[in-house]
Order: sequence, then structure tokens, then C-alpha cells
Amino acid sequence: MANLGYIQVVRHCNHFCGFCSNPSTPYVHTFETMRVLVDDLARRGYFGVILTGGEPTLHPDLPQIARYARQQGLHVRMITNGSRLAEVEFARALAAAGVELAHVSVYSVRADVEAGLRGVPGTLARAFGALDAAHAAGIELAVNCVINRDNADHLDENVRWFVEHHPYVRHFVWNALDPSMGRAEHDKARFTPRLADFELSLHRALSILQQTGRTFRVEKVPLCYMADFAWASTETRKIVKSEERIVHFLDEKQTVRQTAWEHVYSDACTPCSLRAICGGLFDRGNGYDPAELHPVFVSKAAIVSRIASEPEHVRPIADPAPPAVPVGRITLEGERRFAAQARAEQRRGPKPT
Ligand code: SF4
Repeated sequence: MANLGYIQVVRHCNHFCGFCSNPSTPYVHTFETMRVLVDDLARRGYFGVILTGGEPTLHPDLPQIARYARQQGLHVRMITNGSRLAEVEFARALAAAGVELAHVSVYSVRADVEAGLRGVPGTLARAFGALDAAHAAGIELAVNCVINRDNADHLDENVRWFVEHHPYVRHFVWNALDPSMGRAEHDKARFTPRLADFELSLHRALSILQQTGRTFRVEKVPLCYMADFAWASTETRKIVKSEERIVHFLDEKQTVRQTAWEHVYSDACTPCSLRAICGGLFDRGNGYDPAELHPVFVSKAAIVSRIASEPEHVRPIADPAPPAVPVGRITLEGERRFAAQARAEQRRGPKPT
């Protein structure tokens, strides 16, 4: 991982994931309001920008801002649910604009589980179509997966599917559900897994990826549930490499510069050999149980050495201060869309599976 900036291009979405932690807001971006954020990331020497949301492909200026970011020397990535990327012409347009890597989120390759989590039927086929269309257009691909109660037992089944049916996907990102915001907080009892629920299937999934020569990162999972793969923890990598990231939230939080990666610890962490490089339990919403943490007694030096030995695209930070520019604006159009999305969420929120 290198220093990457996140720009939330929009906050509305055409899916209704039950654990969404970025609900709709009245803020909107124009090309100009995004341009100043791209300029700031380029000025401070960041390696790349991740265009995210909401669902970023719903912004009409996405290709334009991707092209501009590329021209400023940034590596351009986006995180998408794949609904529009499945359109061949749209995938080509993004590739031509300079999008180099697309993270397509898929929670489960079981269609019924995926539809239940997304609150919309038919999304899985679109996501698979997005992988194929983007690959054909020359965009590199990664699959993102939020670990939750409904997929916790078959993360390895997901991986086997992609290895067999979409072998060109070379990178995978896992995130333990964040129960601290939005619908994820409201429905945390419904969606938040126990750590023990996914420990084995995550280990099997990572083993398959390692055996087949793929790369992966795991976010928000404490190292005592990462067994042989502690080096793949994004928090641990950031602690070891002293990395930072900037997130331009399209809400009242505005710009957040993150430099600390430690979260919740318990008494069990005190004797743990990995305490100094572990992000602990990511749980600002009291969705997980700290009693699940347990000390491990393995070599911290071996993990640090492995992370430090890998080549990275880290550039010196030119200016650590957050930019003094507003992130988006509240407009009449933004307020109209926000109200419409709130009504739609009430009507179409996810049903229990
Ligand atoms: S016991 Fe605490 S410090 Fe040790 S790996 Fe688990 S969460 Fe990290």
C-alpha cells in the first residue's frame, strides 16, 4: 500500500446494502470541487487517488475527473458495485480516461445471499459482467468483500469461484464490517459477525490466494484472527511503514487525514507479542466482543521484515496539513436527491435473509 487519497465522488447509490456505512447526504460534487481535491493530493506527493462513494459511477463527470487525476500523475483507482461498469462502452470510456484499477465489491458468490445483502436482485450477474467488461477494456481488477454474518462461513467459496471463472482478478481486499455508522450501526446485531465466525474461512481463502499467486490485503481484522497472514493486514502495514491517508468525505466530516491505525484493545493484548504492530479491534460501534481477542506469541520481527522488504510506491509527503478547501457543496439538487434516496431506502431497505 502506498499513500492514497480517497475522494467520495457521490454519496448516493443504486444498491441498498444493509451494512452500508456511507449513507446518502445532501452534499454534491462538481468537476471543479473535485479538481481542487485532486490538485491537493498531487501537490502533497500522494501516489494515487481512489474514487469512491456511494456509487462513484453515478456521477456524470467520473471519466472527466479520472482523466484529470491521471494527467496530474496520480494512479487512478475506483471502488464500484459494478452496476455501470458492466456496460462495455462505459468500461472502455473509463479505461480511456485513465482508470487503471477497479475494485468491484462482491460479498458472496451465492446469488441469494448477495441479493439479500444488497437489497436489490440481480446484482451478482452485473458484478461478474463488470469484471469481464473492465478486463476486456484493459482495467486491472480487484475484488472487495465486506465480511459479515451472511458470508462469514464461505469466504473461501467466493475465492474459488473467482480463481476458476475470473482468473484475471489478481488482488483481493477483505474488510471486516464497520458497525459504527449508517445502516451498519442501526442493524449491527443483524450483520456484524463474531470474529470466530470467519476465522477459518478467511484463512482458507487467503491460503488459496497465496497458493495461486494472487495478492491480498485484510482490513479491520485483529492479528489474532489472521494466523499466518499478519503481514497482509492493512493496519499493520501502515503502522510498520508509517503511512497515512486522506479521505475527502462528502459529508460534514469533510477532509480527514488518518495517521493512527490503532483501535480497541483488551487486557488480553498486554502480553501479546504483536501488540505494537496490531490495529486491534476496529469497533467504534460496540458491534464486536473484545472478549474474543487473545494474545499470540509469534515473531513480530519476521512480520515487520516481510512487510519492509516489499517494494512500495511511497513518495515523500510534501505537506502534512489538510487542505483548506471545502469538500463538495450542499445544493438544491443535492437536497432533492438526498430526500429521494431517504424515501427509497425506507421503501427498499434490505430484507432479512
Ligand atoms: S491480542 Fe490484541 S494485540 Fe494481540 S493480536 Fe489480538 S488484538 Fe492484536
